Amino acid sequence: MALAVLKFGGTSVGDVDRIKNTANRIIDEKKQGNQVVVVVSAMGKTTDQLVALANEISSYPSKREMDMLLSTGEQVTIALLTMALTEKGYSAISFTGWQAGIETESNHCNARITNIEPEKIKRHLNDEKIVIIAGFQGVTEEGEITTLGRGGSDTTAVALAAALKANKCVIYTDVTGVFTSDPRYIPNARKLESISYDEMLELANLGAGVLHARAVEFAKNYQISLEVCSSLEKVSGTVIEEEVTVEKSLIVRGVAFEEDITRITIFELENGLQNLSSIFTTLAARNINVDIIIQNQTVGENTYLSFSIKNDDLRETIDILEHYQTTLGFKHFEYESGLAKVSIIGSGMISNPGVAAKMFEVLAQNNIQIKMVSTSEIKVSTVINQSQMLDAAKILHAEFELDLVEHNVN
Ligand code: ASP
Ligand code: MG
Repeated sequence: MALAVLKFGGTSVGDVDRIKNTANRIIDEKKQGNQVVVVVSAMGKTTDQLVALANEISSYPSKREMDMLLSTGEQVTIALLTMALTEKGYSAISFTGWQAGIETESNHCNARITNIEPEKIKRHLNDEKIVIIAGFQGVTEEGEITTLGRGGSDTTAVALAAALKANKCVIYTDVTGVFTSDPRYIPNARKLESISYDEMLELANLGAGVLHARAVEFAKNYQISLEVCSSLEKVSGTVIEEEVTVEKSLIVRGVAFEEDITRITIFELENGLQNLSSIFTTLAARNINVDIIIQNQTVGENTYLSFSIKNDDLRETIDILEHYQTTLGFKHFEYESGLAKVSIIGSGMISNPGVAAKMFEVLAQNNIQIKMVSTSEIKVSTVINQSQMLDAAKILHAEFELDLVEHNVN
């Protein structure tokens, strides 16, 4: 018997009607003769509301307590959805992350799944039950509840698909698939029929909210073909898989953007490499994610260093830099917030030189100043002023002709 893992996001379970509608979708799958495991998010904007509540009480709440709070959101959904299925005459059972055997490391609010013990789920599947699991959460060795980072329910679904050796994994969401850019802001954005793991990974990492990046990483590592589609409209979605056969002629396949970036600049860092590595080790130990790094060896032995972080990490980064200033050996530091990252992604870049140059040229022509750059084989990212982010994305989307219909080179 085939096994399907289906994941439904917040909008798909946003109210009672949507929950009933989702129950029908699940029943359709069950009727095809499949075993069904369902992973759900918190209802609608519940997680945001819980975050807001916490912030009314503390501007710097403990990450452990945030996990305690946020993990309640998904627990509400699993119970209601299971009731909806039971009401329709189907046998179903719900489990929280820890009940489902989802083990994680102890990094609160951004924990990685380390292991899944799938026996319990399998037992209930063999009992003909639909198994409903709370996304986004797990448990540490010490029995502490953790969450996987915002958007982490996707990762729960893919990790379960891997652990259960599922035959398919479908991510149901409020858009009809993966687009060349965010269709809410870029009107010409176009749905892609398929995209490779690597391209999707870059898109997700660079700000496309449609999938949690770690979910894509899991899918790639375990070679799980993922489908992203709409829970409301019955139209075909986007398949994420290893090899993408169509559209090879398109060099750039997506434009991603992300706001709330801060650039930190450290002046006159002494002792070159040694202190450079100490800075990043110190930040990493506190789980500060550093993105783009630029280092300049200029006057004498002194190094100037810039790196970008998310605004959310600014306060902690400032604390760390102030605290370790003498040990890390630098004169002073400055920061600039109000920045955004705009990136172009496509595997075709590997074999086509000049893509970055074209990007810089078109941004310059439009008076968009580039503050930082980073590249990989399949992406170019720029940090610019946040006020120009959407303009930049639209201009690049048009320049690289992403609105044109897919065509096959063969
Ligand atoms: N409810 C969590 C969030 O809003 C996890 C998820 O939806 O994937 O981030
Ligand atoms: Mg999501």
